[in-house]
Amino acid sequence: MNANLKAVDAAKLSEKLAEATPAEIVTEALRTVGKDRLAVASSFGIESATLLKIVADVDPSIPVLFLDTGWLFPETVAYRDTLIEHLGLRDVRTITPAAEKLAQKDPLQGLYATDPDACCYLRKVEPLSEALGDFDGWINGRKRYQGGQRTGIAPVEVEGQRLKFNPLARVTPSQIRQMFLGWELPVHPLAGQGFTSVGCIPCTRRTNPGDTARAGR
Ligand code: SF4
Repeated sequence: MNANLKAVDAAKLSEKLAEATPAEIVTEALRTVGKDRLAVASSFGIESATLLKIVADVDPSIPVLFLDTGWLFPETVAYRDTLIEHLGLRDVRTITPAAEKLAQKDPLQGLYATDPDACCYLRKVEPLSEALGDFDGWINGRKRYQGGQRTGIAPVEVEGQRLKFNPLARVTPSQIRQMFLGWELPVHPLAGQGFTSVGCIPCTRRTNPGDTARAGR
């Protein structure tokens, strides 16, 4: 983290942004971190178009990091391209796990079944962490209504050496639906097929009515 950001008090910034709109939080992230040191992480999943639209309206050249674990649905990769075109995103960077590490640690591509934590570390945690090494702050799409550890997330957090901005922390599922309708956003190709959340093929299942959005992960 650069010297200026070390002086930023994330708790105070969160307090200031407690009632802010998602766009205001993205704008503040840009102002605080600076254009060259800020990124967005997106899975291009079922709800991702909302955050990406908000970011694109503020500045479509903010780098967007898209993690391709090697196990993504082809529909998700196609959706990435649809949203790049539709929203005019100018700097989407696809990140992949290192080929040599995959060959060494998951040569038969069965690690997800024998040790899912190791698989997630290899295919998600490590590559994203390396990609974020170029940035002092990042924006993500987590929401409080997703439950678990996300229930209490603040607009701004400190994560290691970086600031982490959560512009959608306070939004509701109904507001997400309104964003899709009001902004006429393209929907993920799997959204109408019983998926409320889409991740890796082996670890995603269709959900039942009443399940939480991330129940299929
Ligand atoms: S979600 Fe499943 S396939 Fe994807 S990285 Fe984690 S364990 Fe592996």
